[in-house]
Order: sequence, then C-alpha cells, then structure tokens
Amino acid sequence: MEHIYSDYFNLTETITELKRDILGVVLHDDAENYTAKAYITWLKKRIDQDELEKGWASVYVDQTTCYWFHPTHYTEWHCGDKFANTHYIGIERCQSKINGVLNDNEFMKIEEVSFWLAAAILKKYHLPVNRTTVRIHKEFYNTACPARSWLIHLQNGLDTLESINKLKDYFIFKISQYYSDISKKDIEILG
Ligand SMILES: [Zn+2]
Repeated sequence: MEHIYSDYFNLTETITELKRDILGVVLHDDAENYTAKAYITWLKKRIDQDELEKGWASVYVDQTTCYWFHPTHYTEWHCGDKFANTHYIGIERCQSKINGVLNDNEFMKIEEVSFWLAAAILKKYHLPVNRTTVRIHKEFYNTACPARSWLIHLQNGLDTLESINKLKDYFIFKISQYYSDISKKDIEILG
C-alpha cells in the first residue's frame, strides 16, 4: 500500500477548522471510475476552480493507494451535513461506479482495504467499532451512497433502517477483523 499525502500536510494553512470532536468514520462509494491517484489531479482542479465546496473527503482509497488529501482531524465536506462533516472522517472508496471499470470482486478488494483503513483510523482515535462509530453517507443525507456496496451486499435492498443496519453490521464485522492487529506503526502513517 502506497500512502501519498497532499501539500496540506506540509502547509500551515488548512481548508477548514479542527473537527469539534471525532466520533467515527463514514464509508463512501465514489460512484466514479477514478483511481485514488487520479483524485490528486481531480482535487487540484477543484481547488484551482474554487469548487471545494462541492465536496471532498480526508482520504481516497483503492487497492494499491491511499491518497490523504487533508488531515483527518479537520472538518471535511463529505456528507452534506454539518454534524457529520464536523464529527466524522470520510473514507472515499474509489472506482465504485456500478457497471464501471471494476467487477464486483475487484471492487470488494478495494472495500477490504477500506475496512483495514477504517480499523486503523478508529484505533488511532481510540474509538471502538460499532454502529455509532461506523457510519454510511445515507444516514446523514438523501443519497444512494454507498451505492455499490448497497447493490453487492444487500442485493439493492429496500431503503430502510433495517437495510442500513444490515450493511453497517457487515462493515462492522469486517472492520473488527482488522482492529486488534492494527499496530502503532500502522497508525503512524495515517493522515
Ligand atoms: Zn458518500
């Protein structure tokens, strides 16, 4: 896994203020074909065109790369919801477009990396793995996100609280498998 950090990790200037408190992570499906590395130029363009308000997350992940766009303890514009943006860390799972460049098995390999990453981030912030700390975008905003995993793991199930919890419980199960093995060294490389 290659970890790439944006200039925001060297600059004193950040896009946003510190988060009020860190309560957990939100797993997103980007609904695009872009790799994590492709987001480097994609986000630069967003900065150049003064369009950051359209949204961004702390970290973009695919099977080989983590692109850390902005330090995780700062507010993000990833949920379209003020409380979520100021309290949760966004993990953008790349190349999740339905009928896109990846088949389900390939996308599930990216999901696997995102579960490791979620475990590491939760451990870094001394948070447990449960329904309060592991969240999905849908809980905060009227969106299909995470649409790819909704299709794969729920067979496009009904948009109900029961479905949300079913998907979250799957994420929680997967993240828990990594949690205890996360080392200090793993945590040091997180953005
Ligand atoms: Zn999302």
